[in-house]
Amino acid sequence: MTEPVAYVNGQWGPLAQARVPVLDRGFLLADGVYEVIPAYAGRMLRADEHLARLERSLAEVRMGNPHTRAQWLDLLGRLIRENGGGDKMVYLQVTRGAAAGRGHPFPENLPPTVVAFCQPLPLPSAEMREDGVGVIAVPDIRWSRCDIKAIALLPNLLATQAAKEQGCNEALLVRDDRVTEGASSNVFAVLDGTVATPPKNNEILPGVTRDLLLELLRGAGVPVQERPLGLAELRRADEVWITSSTREVLAVARVDGQPVGAGRPGPLHARAWALFQDYKRRVLI
Ligand code: PMP
Repeated sequence: MTEPVAYVNGQWGPLAQARVPVLDRGFLLADGVYEVIPAYAGRMLRADEHLARLERSLAEVRMGNPHTRAQWLDLLGRLIRENGGGDKMVYLQVTRGAAAGRGHPFPENLPPTVVAFCQPLPLPSAEMREDGVGVIAVPDIRWSRCDIKAIALLPNLLATQAAKEQGCNEALLVRDDRVTEGASSNVFAVLDGTVATPPKNNEILPGVTRDLLLELLRGAGVPVQERPLGLAELRRADEVWITSSTREVLAVARVDGQPVGAGRPGPLHARAWALFQDYKRRVLI
């Protein structure tokens, strides 16, 4: 394996040696946004949609975009090549930059910090795919702008760690008895043959995988609904799935130790997974 290569503010070098200043507002204040883009055999899936979400996140936190869409595509393309291609999760982060000190107000005319690197794409194992995974339900303690892909992830990390400690793959976040999304995924439930997922609003990250899956399901004539999902409803659903750039579409077999439906990935999950794989083959070859 070649040594991982990172991009930091125009410079390329070994990831293990990549540095930003202590005064960077990303480090001190979590003042920044990020994206994760999956690449298969060296080619990014839905890069435009990820870059559009980045543009939106930046605008919502009143930061300029350091690059045009074409420049981002060049930069990330080179990053993947420098890292030997293959199946990668491409990570990029933009912070408000490093100022002279630590103040809360936005400094004027500060160049942003841009960092990008790759890691192997941590797709679910064959066992997870075939058996499904366990999840827990925890209170959603996040702020009310979850639509922004901000680097401040402590509530998500606490939920993820709680799931891990219970041998689970994901934590579903619950606000006012509604399941909003996972700590790092969107959530879907199958009820009476209809696929339901919470609507895009300030309570969830507009997942690129979520949108793609909805498009594929609609295209295949599967009934879908974007509507709030009650936790009680989710517990009695026939199937539950989670989606993300690194999980694709993964079946949930247990919620808080209780089986979902038959306790195995269901038939609509098999359909959704096949639609997703077929889409990848079509656009990436
Ligand atoms: N919700 C949250 C909170 C996430 O962190 C993620 C993963 N980035 C998702 C949803 C899924 O988004 P995507 O499909 O774009 O990876």
